[in-house]
Amino acid sequence: MIMAKDPVCGMMVDEKKAKFKSDYSGKTFYFCAASCKTTFDKDPAKYAGGSGKPGHSCSCGHC
Ligand SMILES: [Zn+2]
Repeated sequence: MIMAKDPVCGMMVDEKKAKFKSDYSGKTFYFCAASCKTTFDKDPAKYAGGSGKPGHSCSCGHC
């Protein structure tokens, strides 16, 4: 079972069962609920920033 982290609320989501996902910056993000996906889609840089870059905590999306 592959678990992905919902970047909005921090819940772990099963990638195979996830109904809500978004592609951003070449990566796929999974969500536990439609509301989390909607929140992410409004401001993806805020939630996607820094993930995959250990030690990079700035979420401005520009650096
Ligand atoms: Zn969620």
